Amino acid sequence: MPELPEVETVRRGLQPVMEGARILSVEQRRPDLRFPFPEGFADRLAGHDVVALGRRAKYLIVHLDDGGILICHMGMSGSFRIETGGEQQTPGVFHYERSKDARHDHVVFHLRRRDGARPRVVFNDPRRFGFMLLTDTKSLETHPLIAGLGVEPTGNELDGALLSRLMGHRRSPLKAALMDQRVIAGLGNIYACEALWRAELSPLRGAHTLAAPPGTASPRAVRLAEAIRAVIAEAIAAGGSSLRDYVQADGSLGYFQHTFSVYDREGMPCPRAGCDGVIERIVQSGRSTFYCPVCQR
Ligand SMILES: [Zn+2]
Repeated sequence: MPELPEVETVRRGLQPVMEGARILSVEQRRPDLRFPFPEGFADRLAGHDVVALGRRAKYLIVHLDDGGILICHMGMSGSFRIETGGEQQTPGVFHYERSKDARHDHVVFHLRRRDGARPRVVFNDPRRFGFMLLTDTKSLETHPLIAGLGVEPTGNELDGALLSRLMGHRRSPLKAALMDQRVIAGLGNIYACEALWRAELSPLRGAHTLAAPPGTASPRAVRLAEAIRAVIAEAIAAGGSSLRDYVQADGSLGYFQHTFSVYDREGMPCPRAGCDGVIERIVQSGRSTFYCPVCQR
């Protein structure tokens, strides 16, 4: 499953191609992905201009000139490919390599940009856990996928006081509470592990231990809020710079691996200066948690 920074790098890669472009036509090559495509999917998009390409949690939100909205989710294995003339580019950088097999090209957006260029944006998804749905501006916030989402982990809204309030009454382990999309939207397994390591907090500690009197923040919550925003921002920044390299090099990029402190590093020494701990892997709520039992308390 792509994590939020990966989705954001995809958004940033698609943005200069899609924003301001007209959708001339849409080729929908199968009736469904994870869900059936909406009735008249291609016809409802054709002829409209893309006014903005946004993101909420791991959903790409395509805003059209008539108030229509296309919600895209990349699922496990989805990717977008930009084809301009003979050139191809797959924006975004992923922990796992993306398919370029044309058999898995399920949707093709034929675009016309204001400068006359006619790029195609191709959605490829071998496992077909991705999906595309339609809504409109006035219904977006109440859409079933969007309405229950918690705070974005990227913005200033997520601070210590909010985290103390969100976590304060929860008895579940801190890691599980962080992964709850109703609390924080789009903070996936990798970055939950990384943020907890950075904040020196154990994933096993009860979420309620971040509690503070109403309107205030516990020191732990302040540390964790800063850590969450930092690990996400750094991953997005790294993705942005890799994106530029990618266009030239056309190589597979695994940079996320190199920036992890604990994720996927079971048995390796804790990278924190002065800590002689060894990274352990445990399973929480069916997901692997990586952490250092020495410095994360
Ligand atoms: Zn450590």
